[in-house]
Amino acid sequence: MTPADNALAFTFLGTGAPPVSLRRAGPAHLVEAGGTSVLIDCGSGVSQRLVAAGHAGARIDALIVTHEHSDHLVDFYQLVVSSWHQGRDRPWRVLAPAPALANMRGQYEAFARERTLRIAFEKRPDATGLEVVFEELHEGPIAGLGGLEIEAFLVDHHPVEPAFGLALTAHAGRIVFSGDTRLTPSLEQAAQGCELLVCEVFIDSQMPVVAGVRSAETVASVKSYHMTPAVVAGLASRSGVKALALTHLVPPGADTAALTGEIRAGGYAGPLIIGEDLMRLELPGRLLRWNGATIGF
Ligand SMILES: [Zn+2]
Ligand SMILES: [Zn+2]
Repeated sequence: MTPADNALAFTFLGTGAPPVSLRRAGPAHLVEAGGTSVLIDCGSGVSQRLVAAGHAGARIDALIVTHEHSDHLVDFYQLVVSSWHQGRDRPWRVLAPAPALANMRGQYEAFARERTLRIAFEKRPDATGLEVVFEELHEGPIAGLGGLEIEAFLVDHHPVEPAFGLALTAHAGRIVFSGDTRLTPSLEQAAQGCELLVCEVFIDSQMPVVAGVRSAETVASVKSYHMTPAVVAGLASRSGVKALALTHLVPPGADTAALTGEIRAGGYAGPLIIGEDLMRLELPGRLLRWNGATIGF
């Protein structure tokens, strides 16, 4: 087994959310182990970010979409077509809860005529790369991912149901990905003792009421199905995670120094990484690679 076979790598492709941000693309993360590449969510800009990360949609083995919110699946069809143009030569395997699956089937159907025209006119070597096998995502392990074990667990993003978090395991260790959720026992349980918890965060202290944009009720509603810095900090310290990384930053332009301060004030004293687009974390060496720098965490 080579070091590369043994590694578990997690790349932040898009650390944003629905708000438009030039720094943070829509939610998308890449996990790689044992020669298998799995894409988690396909938010706005995912195809571009994959290429920027030195990867490509053409090489993805499976796409898992955590829930039906638009920010997590809006670029699905663009991903399919751009991957075909990169030479993808096998069908997509797409796993998602039923409502997200229905949305992506809808996107795929909406472009059926466009696809037929393209295939006939562009005369590429084959059209297999445009095919999609849709599978409903349920709780439990996902089969067929080689040396990468992924287990889906239900989280609480009510009224958006079902919504999933993911435990990502390889020889190198275990990474727990929260998905979009409020604090819930299933996430607490999954996070216990993991090497790395990658958690969403809603920075309520940086989400003021703005006339004509969001009311106090808006802020309270959105906050109620996400995780505030204090809640994330409490979860990370109770569950004994070896490191904590934050993603799905709302607002995407958040002051990250202030966010760090809030996590520390919330009682989490361990290694803390504020995710940035194209940042890559590797186990077992606990290396963070971003923008030409490599540091241990
Ligand atoms: Zn989201
Ligand atoms: Zn959501």
